Amino acid sequence: MTEPPSVHRASRANPLDDALHQLGEAVATLGYDEGTLQLLSAPRREISVAVPLRRDDGTIEVLNGYRVQHNYSRGPAKGGVRFSPDVSLDEVRALAMWMTWKCALMDLPYGGAKGGVTIDPSRYSARELERVVRRYTSEISPIIGPERDIPAPDIGTDAQTMAWMMDTYSATRGYTVAGVVTGKPVILGGSLGRASATSRGVAHVALAALAYKGMKPERTTAAVQGYGKVGRGAAEFLAEAGIRVVAVSDQFAAIHSEAGIDFAALGAHVDATGTVRGFRGAQEIDRDQLLTLPVDLLVPAAVEGVITDANAGDIAARIIVEGANGPTTVAADAILRDRGVLVVPDILANAGGVIVSYFEWAQANQTYRWPLALVEERLKERMLAAWEDVVKAADSHGRTLRQAAMLTAVERVTQAHESRGLHP
Ligand code: NAD
Repeated sequence: MTEPPSVHRASRANPLDDALHQLGEAVATLGYDEGTLQLLSAPRREISVAVPLRRDDGTIEVLNGYRVQHNYSRGPAKGGVRFSPDVSLDEVRALAMWMTWKCALMDLPYGGAKGGVTIDPSRYSARELERVVRRYTSEISPIIGPERDIPAPDIGTDAQTMAWMMDTYSATRGYTVAGVVTGKPVILGGSLGRASATSRGVAHVALAALAYKGMKPERTTAAVQGYGKVGRGAAEFLAEAGIRVVAVSDQFAAIHSEAGIDFAALGAHVDATGTVRGFRGAQEIDRDQLLTLPVDLLVPAAVEGVITDANAGDIAARIIVEGANGPTTVAADAILRDRGVLVVPDILANAGGVIVSYFEWAQANQTYRWPLALVEERLKERMLAAWEDVVKAADSHGRTLRQAAMLTAVERVTQAHESRGLHP
């Protein structure tokens, strides 16, 4: 297997600084007081756990795990679990806060949470990973549950991870608790359409953004950073819509083909090798060069902090659709705004996953499976309705889409706090 680079993120800046800055800006615009800012800044509950692992060779290793519930004023906390060597408590805090705003913006009855284990999954066997997942789940089980906090997949985790989490949680209860996680395999009550939901949502808003800018898909070129659960599907859906996707990348390499990438062939190559590197239908380019290629549409769908003040001035795309969480730093955001680049923010662009997670949780609670067509229709409706609302709010007040989305989200969470009051 190819050796993974040790640092995935382009910048080691702390994403929590960016998340807090965005919140501070929204609170100031809304005219809220310092107490409200403090209330919304502090995670309501967080837990750091040691995750001891017996490796296949019999040695013991102790990993660090986290679960942060940023806010649950609007309902149970909701958010993914990340397995990555870059996971830190501050990263998890930032991601949990972004989940609060995303769920509020999409008007889902959830707060925000995130979890993670500091681990490079590519260096462990499947049996070792199962033990890590089970021990991590058991350590955080006092604070999760279908009415408390519902994990889902994120970087380095998948439907199998969710199956192990659900099984571990259920074993301690003595019965099957399907609603404790979302993103499960369909055989265990996972929703039809969940696996592709984030990517589909990215494509829905990307197409809406093109129409907003008066651009036609068949005359548009795109580059997609990250070829995982979000990036791969997003690239394929954009290509299906007629966009010429000329470059994609993963943590190992970036590849480029001016004629457009053949995704059936690339998919087969990635399934066989685990990476886009070595694909014969395109030329390998420098991994970070992908961000500044002369394309119309850029979809960062890998990790946070990749578009920074060092490269924002060189980005040629007119539209950026944030498939990843937090890919654009605050400093880069200001540069892109001044340059007139339309940035569709993460809390809107990649919300398709949590929308269908909500549908999955609703199906678990109803014990009634929805057909795929219904899931996809409702996903599209919600994505496009949120897009329209955000664009209207941005245009009527001369704000960026991120500012407008943050204001709506922060206002909704604050209203929930106000109507609940403080206990005691
Ligand atoms: P994943 O682990 O399935 O894929 C991540 C991809 O990014 C991999 O192809 C990896 O090789 C690549 N990558 C890592 N570092 C890179 C770099 N520096 N340059 C280029 N590629 C790099 O993870 P995912 O679930 O697709 O998540 C990607 C992003 O989308 C994350 O920010 C995540 O929080 C966000 N997100 C995921 C979901 C979901 O449903 N999975 C929902 C909303 C947001």
